[in-house]
Amino acid sequence: MIREVLTYPNPKLRTVSKDVTDFDVNLHTLLDDMYETMLHKNGVGLAAIQVGVALNILVINPIDEEGEQKKEDLLEVINPEILESEGVIVFQEGCLSVPSVYENVERFKKIKVKFFDRLGNEHVETYEDFMAVALQHEIDHLRGHLFIEKLTYLKRKKFEKEWKKRAKEKA
Ligand SMILES: [Zn+2]
Repeated sequence: MIREVLTYPNPKLRTVSKDVTDFDVNLHTLLDDMYETMLHKNGVGLAAIQVGVALNILVINPIDEEGEQKKEDLLEVINPEILESEGVIVFQEGCLSVPSVYENVERFKKIKVKFFDRLGNEHVETYEDFMAVALQHEIDHLRGHLFIEKLTYLKRKKFEKEWKKRAKEKA
């Protein structure tokens, strides 16, 4: 089922999510819905809080070299914890909760993450470049943060101004 994606400045996006304790059918339904919603919105990543559920769950489905978004590349991440991080990468990010805004953000280039899959199995994996960036972006959502908070003061001001203008045009 496609769910509604909350957009900035919805205060619910500032919620700090809680860990999943039951790896049950409700979790599986939520993961399936998140995947469907992400594809429907042409996204490559989604955190549960973006569909209004304050649980530590995120999905990432990267685009491969052929430009295809294959389900076999889907990564489901539950209760993530960044164990190690190194390097710096600047990457242009976007977010389904801040539509049509793309800005360069600085992140760690490489991270080691502990997480659980939908069956409750624990994994420890290292990710680099796009996957590392996407994971940090989505984990920020779980802590109640949006990527626009990472912009420089001037860029943030410019964003706020344009966003207000756009909201006015919609009304
Ligand atoms: Zn996002």
